[in-house]
Amino acid sequence: MRYAEVSVNSPVAQRRTFSYAIPSGMAVIPGQAVMVPFGERELQGIVMELSPHPAVEDTRDIISIIDNKPFLSPAYISLARWISDYYLSPLFDAVALMLPPGFERKTVTLLSAAKPAPDVSSLNETQRRIMETVSGEGGVELKKLERALGKKKAAAAVSQLVRQGLIARSYELESVRVKPKTEFYICLSGSNSEAAKPTPRQAKLIDFLRGQTGPIPWAAAREATGCSRASADVLAKKGMVAFQQVEVRREPISYEKIVTSYPLSLTSDQKAVFNAIKTGLGRVAGGGASPDVFLLQGVTGSGKTEIYLQALAEAVRLGKKGIVLVPEISLTPQTIERFASRFPHRVAVLHSRLSLGEQYDEWRRIRGGEFDVVIGSRSAIFAPQPDLGLIIIDEEHEWTYKQDNSPHYHARDVAIKLAELTGAVVVLGSATPDVESYHRAKNGDYKLLELPERVVPSEGAALPDVEVVDMREELKAGNRSIFSRSLAEAINEAVAEQEQVILFLNRRGGSTFIQCRRCGFVLRCRRCEVPLAHHIAGDILTCHQCNYKTAIPQACPNCSSRQLKFLGTGTQKLEQEVRYTFPRARHMRWDSDVISRESSHEDILNRFRSRQAEILIGTQMVAKGLDIPSVTLVGVISADTSLNLPDFRAGERTFQLLSQVAGRAGRGPLGGRVVIQTFSPEHYAIQAAASHDYASFYEQEIEHRRQLHNPPFSQLARLVFTHTNDAACQREAERVKDYLAGEIDTRGVPGISIVGPAPTFIHRLRGRFRWQLMLRGTGLSAFLSPIPFPQGWTIDIDPMNLIQ
Ligand code: ADP
Ligand code: ZN
Ligand code: ZN
Repeated sequence: MRYAEVSVNSPVAQRRTFSYAIPSGMAVIPGQAVMVPFGERELQGIVMELSPHPAVEDTRDIISIIDNKPFLSPAYISLARWISDYYLSPLFDAVALMLPPGFERKTVTLLSAAKPAPDVSSLNETQRRIMETVSGEGGVELKKLERALGKKKAAAAVSQLVRQGLIARSYELESVRVKPKTEFYICLSGSNSEAAKPTPRQAKLIDFLRGQTGPIPWAAAREATGCSRASADVLAKKGMVAFQQVEVRREPISYEKIVTSYPLSLTSDQKAVFNAIKTGLGRVAGGGASPDVFLLQGVTGSGKTEIYLQALAEAVRLGKKGIVLVPEISLTPQTIERFASRFPHRVAVLHSRLSLGEQYDEWRRIRGGEFDVVIGSRSAIFAPQPDLGLIIIDEEHEWTYKQDNSPHYHARDVAIKLAELTGAVVVLGSATPDVESYHRAKNGDYKLLELPERVVPSEGAALPDVEVVDMREELKAGNRSIFSRSLAEAINEAVAEQEQVILFLNRRGGSTFIQCRRCGFVLRCRRCEVPLAHHIAGDILTCHQCNYKTAIPQACPNCSSRQLKFLGTGTQKLEQEVRYTFPRARHMRWDSDVISRESSHEDILNRFRSRQAEILIGTQMVAKGLDIPSVTLVGVISADTSLNLPDFRAGERTFQLLSQVAGRAGRGPLGGRVVIQTFSPEHYAIQAAASHDYASFYEQEIEHRRQLHNPPFSQLARLVFTHTNDAACQREAERVKDYLAGEIDTRGVPGISIVGPAPTFIHRLRGRFRWQLMLRGTGLSAFLSPIPFPQGWTIDIDPMNLIQ
């Protein structure tokens, strides 16, 4: 083969590959990274395919191979193609998902002065400054000039100078910023001057170090001896001890506190589920058969995770490896611990908190086959796990599996495609499966497995009792507090019994909007159209979309009235109410505002677990996977927040959230109860969640979907255009609508309808207006594929988020 089809790292490449000739003597294979000439530049690309003939007449040569070992195996090359075709994303964007972290380096533009040094007397001030900067050795980066002069000014001046032949441009790959991890160590040093008299602490440190076989982390020495850094420094100055930076290999999981665990003996329900998966694994291990996709529906606490663990062990027994996806890695330390304790030192955790270098390291170790199990969120599906035999997606209904930017892929659909390409079994697990997944399971596309009963606190234990409180009745009875009488009483009881309580409210901040009493004006973000929320800490107004912050105005910007009213309740205000209403209880808050470098999810969780508070107030975070036996009461402050959103999935979302939070109660021997407060107690999503009845929820939900022709009965595509000018934005949306309607006619594609254009729910975001078109039908990717969309459009196939 003399030619290669290359996916090039350039925005103009879009969804296509480019043909390059392979110079004689160069051995190129698919999946390899190469440097290719592209216009005037040299860019990176990935070889997608070899061919005897080029797709175009004129081809240029591949410049060089970046790494001999291919980054993408054949299955992943097909997967990248599929992602680009299905989600209509640039091919290289899809390829980049699978490359080692930090690989996708930018090319930097270098500038250098022409030789011999040109005459600069006729140049203006800016140009002269540029000439001065670039005349040093080796050239300077364009970026540096941009920082000094501003992007536009620098670009214009540089172009002029290049045209005049005074400076030359060249390109280079940005250097990799992969640093080895080092830690600060301490050890005894050779010269032991007994003359100096150490303090007791210093003596203790020296003693301690004498007992070590070599250098040890300073942090450990300090902890063991109580010696301060200042005192240790004194010893170092005297030459008695020495500090050093030691390169350490990072363990993704700290195993110090992790005790190896062993498979539990399964309940009969679990056995049935496990055997089905085992059979599925055996079939693909035997080769040939198309792999199964299982949908495991099991109520919270029914032992799904134990199934995942044993299924993985079975895959390993068959010589295979697994990938486990969780919705959000930082929220699931408990889950990760369980995997690590069952597969000690055989688990890789992909965490965005890792530095680029660490991620790169991990990627290489995974590719080398060092781990039986890779755990991570959405993007972990692209981990180069060899011999893939099993993919598990926990909480498969979660929206975090859908990527918000290009490529707009859904990890579940990618996983199923990948499994098909590699012959791996897929297990989708959830207490409240996505309605579309459940529909597929009912149709026989997926195999349905069920765990209808809890195993905790004992086999067949009841799910917690749920009481739905009608808040209209509370108002009628004169109760204006945010706690219904029922919930207040239940909290008091639980606190008196020294049990723990979770209060769930899906809104951050203090007051969630501020309104003028006189004219009704609501304070909104200047760049987005959303109301500003009041944050109690700092006494400041914040936009939850763009994080814009501003002081509280003295008067209404519209009518100058001073009667600004703080309305709506977020978690901070709830916290105040808790303090006021339950003064004897200790409480903590868990939302993204309290997460910082000092206080991680894990810290908050650990503090609550060790009973440093009776009441935990939180947003959705508290709904995820918490397993705390001493929680006997869960209160949902308002079930209506998600119910009233203009999205056909609002009911499903509400049902899932309520079921999940409710599942946090009664996981211990004390049992548990749940109180849900709402203004729409009759809504089927709330009713079904209250009776833990997925089947009844599904029946009603699927009927609505059928009637309105929503997924799974059709496919959706959401097309959003953004522009700083509202009228121009609308015009472009209308133009594209007409164009698409024309295409539907001329190409004769049946069954595609277009809704809109209409402003998006948040019409303005970060200063840009947004209009959308919704397409409903089948085969939307193929329909949209040949259509040229100008800049400013985003296309989301199978959108999950219809609101932002
Ligand atoms: P889920 O993932 O469905 O919420 P888990 O797998 O977390 O359920 O199980 C809940 C609890 O029950 C865990 O503490 C787990 O260790 C325990 N458990 C699961 N299966 C068994 C079993 N067969 N025997 C005893 N305990 C079990
Ligand atoms: Zn006003
Ligand atoms: Zn904003």
